[in-house]
Amino acid sequence: MTSQKLPKPNTPYKSWGEFTKAVWYWGLHYMDPAILDRWLDHAHGEMTKPRKDDAHLLRPSANLNCEMKLHLLKQGFKPQSDKRNLGPTFNVGHLLHAHFFAQVESALPEGFLMSPEQLVNMAMIDWWPKDPEVAKQEGSADLLLTWGDDAQDEAHAYFGDRLPARTVLIDVKSTADHIWKQKYKQPLLGTSPDSFGYESQLAMYHTALGLEGSAYFAYVNRNILSGKNPPAMVEMSARQIAEELERVKRRVTESTPSPEMLLTWGRQVSWVCGAFGKSMDDAMCDFCVPCSEFWPVEIDV
Ligand code: SF4
Repeated sequence: MTSQKLPKPNTPYKSWGEFTKAVWYWGLHYMDPAILDRWLDHAHGEMTKPRKDDAHLLRPSANLNCEMKLHLLKQGFKPQSDKRNLGPTFNVGHLLHAHFFAQVESALPEGFLMSPEQLVNMAMIDWWPKDPEVAKQEGSADLLLTWGDDAQDEAHAYFGDRLPARTVLIDVKSTADHIWKQKYKQPLLGTSPDSFGYESQLAMYHTALGLEGSAYFAYVNRNILSGKNPPAMVEMSARQIAEELERVKRRVTESTPSPEMLLTWGRQVSWVCGAFGKSMDDAMCDFCVPCSEFWPVEIDV
Protein backbone atom coordinates (compact mmCIF):
# COMPACT_ATOMS: atom_id res chain seq x y z
CA MET A 1 0.00 0.00 0.00
CA THR A 2 1.42 3.39 -0.96
CA SER A 3 1.39 6.55 1.05
CA GLN A 4 -1.38 9.04 0.34
CA LYS A 5 -2.10 12.44 1.80
CA LEU A 6 -5.36 13.18 3.60
CA PRO A 7 -7.74 14.56 0.95
CA LYS A 8 -9.58 17.84 1.35
CA PRO A 9 -12.79 17.26 3.31
CA ASN A 10 -16.31 18.01 2.10
CA THR A 11 -17.08 19.47 5.52
CA PRO A 12 -14.21 21.43 7.09
CA TYR A 13 -12.71 20.17 10.33
CA LYS A 14 -13.85 22.17 13.34
CA SER A 15 -10.58 21.89 15.24
CA TRP A 16 -7.03 20.59 15.23
CA GLY A 17 -8.34 17.65 17.25
CA GLU A 18 -10.68 16.56 14.44
CA PHE A 19 -8.01 17.18 11.83
CA THR A 20 -5.38 15.16 13.71
CA LYS A 21 -7.73 12.22 14.14
CA ALA A 22 -8.52 12.27 10.40
CA VAL A 23 -4.79 12.34 9.56
CA TRP A 24 -4.27 9.43 11.97
CA TYR A 25 -6.99 7.37 10.23
CA TRP A 26 -5.61 8.14 6.80
CA GLY A 27 -2.06 7.28 7.88
CA LEU A 28 -3.26 3.98 9.30
CA HIS A 29 -4.55 2.97 5.87
CA TYR A 30 -1.90 4.61 3.71
CA MET A 31 1.26 4.31 5.77
CA ASP A 32 4.54 4.82 3.93
CA PRO A 33 6.67 1.79 4.99
CA ALA A 34 9.92 3.76 4.58
CA ILE A 35 8.62 6.42 6.99
CA LEU A 36 7.57 3.75 9.48
CA ASP A 37 11.03 2.12 9.23
CA ARG A 38 12.70 5.41 10.04
CA TRP A 39 10.48 6.01 13.05
CA LEU A 40 11.00 2.48 14.34
CA ASP A 41 14.78 3.01 14.12
CA HIS A 42 14.31 6.17 16.14
CA ALA A 43 12.22 4.31 18.74
CA HIS A 44 14.93 1.65 19.03
CA GLY A 45 17.46 4.39 19.79
CA GLU A 46 15.18 5.85 22.47
CA MET A 47 14.57 2.44 24.05
CA THR A 48 18.26 1.55 24.33
CA LYS A 49 19.78 4.84 25.43
CA PRO A 50 20.61 5.19 29.13
CA ARG A 51 17.90 6.76 31.23
CA LYS A 52 18.69 10.15 32.76
CA ASP A 53 19.07 10.28 36.50
CA ASP A 54 16.99 13.42 36.97
CA ALA A 55 14.15 12.30 39.21
CA HIS A 56 15.36 14.63 41.96
CA LEU A 57 14.96 17.74 39.78
CA LEU A 58 11.92 19.92 39.45
CA ARG A 59 10.55 18.88 36.06
CA PRO A 60 7.32 19.34 34.21
CA SER A 61 6.97 15.67 33.39
CA ALA A 62 6.41 14.39 36.89
CA ASN A 63 6.23 16.52 39.94
CA LEU A 64 4.37 19.75 39.27
CA ASN A 65 0.84 18.45 39.86
CA CYS A 66 0.75 18.56 43.67
CA GLU A 67 1.86 21.27 46.04
CA MET A 68 3.25 18.75 48.53
CA LYS A 69 5.70 17.23 46.05
CA LEU A 70 7.28 20.61 45.44
CA HIS A 71 7.43 21.33 49.15
CA LEU A 72 9.15 18.00 49.87
CA LEU A 73 11.60 18.42 46.98
CA LYS A 74 12.58 21.81 48.36
CA GLN A 75 13.07 20.23 51.78
CA GLY A 76 15.59 17.83 50.22
CA PHE A 77 13.44 14.68 50.09
CA LYS A 78 14.38 12.38 47.21
CA PRO A 79 11.66 10.73 45.14
CA GLN A 80 11.46 6.97 45.57
CA SER A 81 11.23 6.20 41.88
CA ASP A 82 13.59 3.21 42.16
CA LYS A 83 10.81 1.16 43.72
CA ARG A 84 9.12 0.70 40.34
CA ASN A 85 10.80 -0.17 37.09
CA LEU A 86 8.55 1.28 34.42
CA GLY A 87 11.14 0.76 31.66
CA PRO A 88 8.96 -1.71 29.68
CA THR A 89 5.99 0.66 29.84
CA PHE A 90 8.13 3.53 28.54
CA ASN A 91 9.44 1.29 25.75
CA VAL A 92 5.93 0.40 24.60
CA GLY A 93 5.23 4.13 24.68
CA HIS A 94 8.21 4.79 22.37
CA LEU A 95 6.86 2.27 19.87
CA LEU A 96 3.37 3.75 19.95
CA HIS A 97 4.78 7.25 19.51
CA ALA A 98 6.81 6.02 16.52
CA HIS A 99 3.72 4.52 14.92
CA PHE A 100 1.69 7.65 15.58
CA PHE A 101 4.37 9.92 14.09
CA ALA A 102 4.75 7.65 11.05
CA GLN A 103 0.98 7.75 10.44
CA VAL A 104 0.92 11.55 10.69
CA GLU A 105 3.99 12.02 8.50
CA SER A 106 2.57 9.63 5.89
CA ALA A 107 -0.81 11.34 5.64
CA LEU A 108 -0.22 15.01 6.51
CA PRO A 109 -1.57 17.07 3.55
CA GLU A 110 0.56 19.34 1.37
CA GLY A 111 1.10 22.73 2.96
CA PHE A 112 1.08 21.33 6.53
CA LEU A 113 4.23 20.70 8.56
CA MET A 114 5.02 18.57 11.58
CA SER A 115 7.74 19.12 14.20
CA PRO A 116 8.06 16.03 16.37
CA GLU A 117 9.95 16.04 19.67
CA GLN A 118 10.40 19.77 19.76
CA LEU A 119 12.99 21.03 22.25
CA VAL A 120 11.41 23.26 24.92
CA ASN A 121 13.47 25.85 26.77
CA MET A 122 11.95 26.19 30.23
CA ALA A 123 13.85 29.46 30.82
CA MET A 124 11.23 31.12 28.60
CA ILE A 125 8.97 31.03 31.68
CA ASP A 126 10.27 33.84 33.89
CA TRP A 127 9.44 32.28 37.27
CA TRP A 128 10.91 28.85 36.44
CA PRO A 129 14.07 28.25 38.59
CA LYS A 130 17.17 28.81 36.46
CA ASP A 131 19.55 26.61 38.49
CA PRO A 132 20.09 23.31 36.58
CA GLU A 133 20.88 21.60 39.89
CA VAL A 134 17.36 22.41 41.04
CA ALA A 135 15.19 22.29 37.93
CA LYS A 136 15.36 20.84 34.44
CA GLN A 137 15.97 23.56 31.90
CA GLU A 138 14.80 21.68 28.83
CA GLY A 139 11.92 19.48 27.85
CA SER A 140 10.66 17.74 24.74
CA ALA A 141 7.20 18.46 23.35
CA ASP A 142 5.77 15.52 21.42
CA LEU A 143 4.38 17.09 18.29
CA LEU A 144 3.69 20.47 16.73
CA LEU A 145 1.49 20.77 13.66
CA THR A 146 1.22 23.95 11.63
CA TRP A 147 0.72 25.18 8.11
CA GLY A 148 3.33 26.93 5.97
CA ASP A 149 3.60 30.66 5.27
CA ASP A 150 2.23 30.19 1.77
CA ALA A 151 -0.39 27.57 2.68
CA GLN A 152 -3.28 29.79 3.72
CA ASP A 153 -5.46 28.32 0.96
CA GLU A 154 -4.74 24.77 2.15
CA ALA A 155 -5.55 25.81 5.72
CA HIS A 156 -8.93 27.13 4.58
CA ALA A 157 -9.54 23.99 2.53
CA TYR A 158 -9.25 21.84 5.68
CA PHE A 159 -10.62 24.22 8.33
CA GLY A 160 -13.02 26.46 6.39
CA ASP A 161 -13.41 30.15 7.26
CA ARG A 162 -12.75 29.77 10.99
CA LEU A 163 -9.09 28.90 11.22
CA PRO A 164 -7.75 27.66 14.56
CA ALA A 165 -4.48 29.02 15.97
CA ARG A 166 -1.88 28.32 13.31
CA THR A 167 0.26 25.97 15.41
CA VAL A 168 -0.98 23.29 17.76
CA LEU A 169 0.85 21.25 20.39
CA ILE A 170 -0.16 17.59 20.71
CA ASP A 171 0.95 15.36 23.55
CA VAL A 172 0.72 11.67 22.62
CA LYS A 173 -0.11 9.40 25.55
CA SER A 174 -0.17 5.63 25.40
CA THR A 175 -2.86 4.44 27.73
CA ALA A 176 -4.65 1.35 29.01
CA ASP A 177 -7.95 0.35 27.42
CA HIS A 178 -10.12 1.35 30.40
CA ILE A 179 -8.54 4.84 30.59
CA TRP A 180 -8.86 5.26 26.81
CA LYS A 181 -12.58 4.41 27.08
CA GLN A 182 -13.03 7.02 29.80
CA LYS A 183 -11.23 9.70 27.76
CA TYR A 184 -13.23 8.80 24.68
CA LYS A 185 -16.59 9.00 26.41
CA GLN A 186 -15.75 12.07 28.47
CA PRO A 187 -13.07 14.10 26.67
CA LEU A 188 -13.28 16.96 29.16
CA LEU A 189 -10.48 18.10 31.40
CA GLY A 190 -11.20 18.74 35.06
CA THR A 191 -13.49 15.73 35.49
CA SER A 192 -10.71 13.45 36.76
CA PRO A 193 -7.43 14.01 38.61
CA ASP A 194 -4.26 14.90 36.73
CA SER A 195 -2.56 11.94 38.42
CA PHE A 196 0.60 11.98 36.30
CA GLY A 197 0.98 15.73 35.87
CA TYR A 198 0.09 15.61 32.17
CA GLU A 199 -1.87 18.85 32.31
CA SER A 200 0.89 20.66 34.20
CA GLN A 201 3.39 19.56 31.60
CA LEU A 202 1.26 20.54 28.62
CA ALA A 203 0.53 23.97 30.11
CA MET A 204 4.24 24.55 30.74
CA TYR A 205 5.37 23.46 27.28
CA HIS A 206 2.60 25.39 25.51
CA THR A 207 3.60 28.55 27.37
CA ALA A 208 7.38 28.10 26.98
CA LEU A 209 6.88 27.62 23.24
CA GLY A 210 4.88 30.86 23.06
CA LEU A 211 1.84 29.18 21.51
CA GLU A 212 -1.74 30.40 21.37
CA GLY A 213 -5.09 28.63 21.34
CA SER A 214 -5.76 25.08 22.51
CA ALA A 215 -3.42 22.13 22.94
CA TYR A 216 -4.42 18.46 22.78
CA PHE A 217 -3.75 15.12 24.37
CA ALA A 218 -3.94 12.21 21.94
CA TYR A 219 -4.67 9.16 24.10
CA VAL A 220 -3.64 6.05 22.17
CA ASN A 221 -5.13 2.74 23.27
CA ARG A 222 -2.16 0.46 23.91
CA ASN A 223 -4.27 -2.66 24.46
CA ILE A 224 -6.26 -2.69 21.24
CA LEU A 225 -4.63 -0.93 18.30
CA SER A 226 -7.02 -0.74 15.39
CA GLY A 227 -9.01 1.61 13.19
CA LYS A 228 -11.92 1.13 15.60
CA ASN A 229 -9.88 2.66 18.39
CA PRO A 230 -8.58 6.01 17.13
CA PRO A 231 -6.81 8.27 19.61
CA ALA A 232 -9.11 10.02 22.06
CA MET A 233 -8.36 13.69 21.39
CA VAL A 234 -8.77 15.68 24.62
CA GLU A 235 -8.62 19.44 24.26
CA MET A 236 -6.96 21.73 26.77
CA SER A 237 -8.33 25.17 25.99
CA ALA A 238 -6.32 28.40 26.19
CA ARG A 239 -8.26 29.25 29.37
CA GLN A 240 -7.51 25.88 30.96
CA ILE A 241 -3.85 26.23 30.03
CA ALA A 242 -3.68 29.67 31.68
CA GLU A 243 -5.43 28.37 34.83
CA GLU A 244 -3.16 25.35 35.12
CA LEU A 245 -0.11 27.54 34.59
CA GLU A 246 -1.20 29.70 37.54
CA ARG A 247 -1.56 26.58 39.71
CA VAL A 248 1.91 25.37 38.71
CA LYS A 249 3.39 28.81 39.36
CA ARG A 250 1.88 28.81 42.85
CA ARG A 251 3.24 25.32 43.56
CA VAL A 252 6.72 26.21 42.31
CA THR A 253 7.01 29.61 43.96
CA GLU A 254 4.97 29.20 47.16
CA SER A 255 4.75 25.46 47.85
CA THR A 256 3.48 24.68 51.34
CA PRO A 257 3.05 21.35 53.16
CA SER A 258 -0.40 20.66 51.75
CA PRO A 259 -1.30 17.23 50.30
CA GLU A 260 -3.10 19.02 47.50
CA MET A 261 -3.85 16.01 45.29
CA LEU A 262 -5.37 14.08 48.16
CA LEU A 263 -7.37 17.01 49.48
CA THR A 264 -8.73 17.83 46.01
CA TRP A 265 -9.62 14.34 44.78
CA GLY A 266 -9.84 12.13 47.89
CA ARG A 267 -10.76 8.54 47.13
CA GLN A 268 -10.12 8.99 43.41
CA VAL A 269 -6.38 9.30 44.00
CA SER A 270 -6.14 6.53 46.54
CA TRP A 271 -3.98 4.44 44.20
CA VAL A 272 -1.70 7.43 43.56
CA CYS A 273 -1.24 8.43 47.18
CA GLY A 274 -0.90 5.05 48.88
CA ALA A 275 -4.46 4.33 49.97
CA PHE A 276 -3.99 6.27 53.18
CA GLY A 277 -1.10 4.08 54.29
CA LYS A 278 -2.64 0.75 53.27
CA SER A 279 -0.72 0.42 50.01
CA MET A 280 2.41 2.55 50.16
CA ASP A 281 4.53 0.17 48.06
CA ASP A 282 2.09 0.37 45.17
CA ALA A 283 1.58 4.13 45.32
CA MET A 284 2.32 5.93 42.08
CA CYS A 285 3.49 9.03 43.94
CA ASP A 286 7.19 8.96 44.77
CA PHE A 287 6.60 11.09 47.83
CA CYS A 288 3.77 9.27 49.54
CA VAL A 289 5.82 8.17 52.57
CA PRO A 290 7.04 11.61 53.70
CA CYS A 291 3.74 13.12 52.57
CA SER A 292 1.80 10.76 54.83
CA GLU A 293 3.08 12.75 57.82
CA PHE A 294 0.79 15.54 56.66
CA TRP A 295 -2.34 13.58 55.79
CA PRO A 296 -5.36 14.75 57.76
CA VAL A 297 -6.68 11.93 59.91
CA GLU A 298 -10.28 12.47 58.87
CA ILE A 299 -9.54 11.65 55.22
CA ASP A 300 -10.40 8.05 54.42
CA VAL A 301 -9.00 7.08 51.03
S1 SF4 B 1 0.96 11.32 48.16
FE1 SF4 B 1 -0.64 12.43 47.03
S2 SF4 B 1 -0.94 14.31 48.18
FE2 SF4 B 1 1.03 13.45 48.81
S3 SF4 B 1 2.59 14.37 47.53
FE3 SF4 B 1 1.95 12.51 46.55
S4 SF4 B 1 0.32 13.13 45.13
FE4 SF4 B 1 0.58 14.78 46.61
